[in-house]
Amino acid sequence: MARPAKIEFKPSPEQLALMPDCSGNDINGRGESRFRRPSRVYWHNPSDIPHGAIQRWMVARFNRVEDFKTVYAEGDRGPSNPDPIAGSEQQDSAQNWVKKVKEFALQHEADQVGIAAMKVDWTYDDCGPDVATWIILLGVEMDHAKLACAPSSDTDTASALEVSVQYNRGARVSAHLANWIRGQGYHAEPHAGPWAGPVTLTPAALACGFGELGKHGNIINRQSGSSFRLSAVLTDLPLLADEADEFGADGFCTRCQVCINACPVDAISDTKQWVRGVEKWYVDFDKCIPYFNETHGCGICIAVCPWSRPGAAPRLAEKIRRRKNRLAQMSGDTHE
Ligand code: SF4
Ligand code: SF4
Repeated sequence: MARPAKIEFKPSPEQLALMPDCSGNDINGRGESRFRRPSRVYWHNPSDIPHGAIQRWMVARFNRVEDFKTVYAEGDRGPSNPDPIAGSEQQDSAQNWVKKVKEFALQHEADQVGIAAMKVDWTYDDCGPDVATWIILLGVEMDHAKLACAPSSDTDTASALEVSVQYNRGARVSAHLANWIRGQGYHAEPHAGPWAGPVTLTPAALACGFGELGKHGNIINRQSGSSFRLSAVLTDLPLLADEADEFGADGFCTRCQVCINACPVDAISDTKQWVRGVEKWYVDFDKCIPYFNETHGCGICIAVCPWSRPGAAPRLAEKIRRRKNRLAQMSGDTHE
């Protein structure tokens, strides 16, 4: 679909009639300098969230389009019921479990895998304190040519279909990996988008090396830019954590305006904002979501991000590394 220029977007009367009288930015904690756990805002049980009516409306419109219904709602998301946990725990070293988990995931449709020690801070504020020990993050890359067709409509479906295809792939990886772990005798629970589980996946993925948060509110990864989706497995299998990967995407964002200029509803801010005790890039929920809902998931900002172009992310990361080293050499501080 031709990308809309800046528009005076007005949500349709049907969507407007279902809007709650509260701000999603308030629920998200925009402007709050003190830490608190996230509150459920979207992609949860619609009965539990103030924006549940517009979420229901969005999903119903999506499923009315035959292509979407066939690919997503009737698509293969892997085993829907978890296998029973085997009666005895197989024993191995954490190093070997990490190796086996990553091999299994990469052989079962994942493109990237990372492991983080699970934090209760990443769980929603209505969850109890008992969380799994580890979270395994799984990344599946999107076809950028299809993503670049964003935004979608009822008749121009390429971008939203691709997102659905990849959410299903992420769901299959996480379901199969969770069942494999359960077969080793350990607790494992899969979670896949677009629905949110008990955990916000982005901070966990940042912690275990998926990349840095971009101005468009999504992760920028050094291999695939923002052209990927996440799923996860929560588990008690003994594992080891991966490290965060900061390669300069955050600094790049401070000098780039591409997603700001491309967002039709001005939802992307040029400055970081305090959100529940963290100063970070933040997308205006109240501006984004109505447009997101009417375009079957929008996606313009991740499609236009220079890091998302095929092959671009590794080149940009390398360029930043060389520049950093040049500057370090000039100041007599070498890191090679
Ligand atoms: S388009 Fe530019 S500013 Fe926006 S997230 Fe990508 S690199 Fe950052
Ligand atoms: S997804 Fe939201 S923030 Fe991104 S371009 Fe679309 S409306 Fe803007």
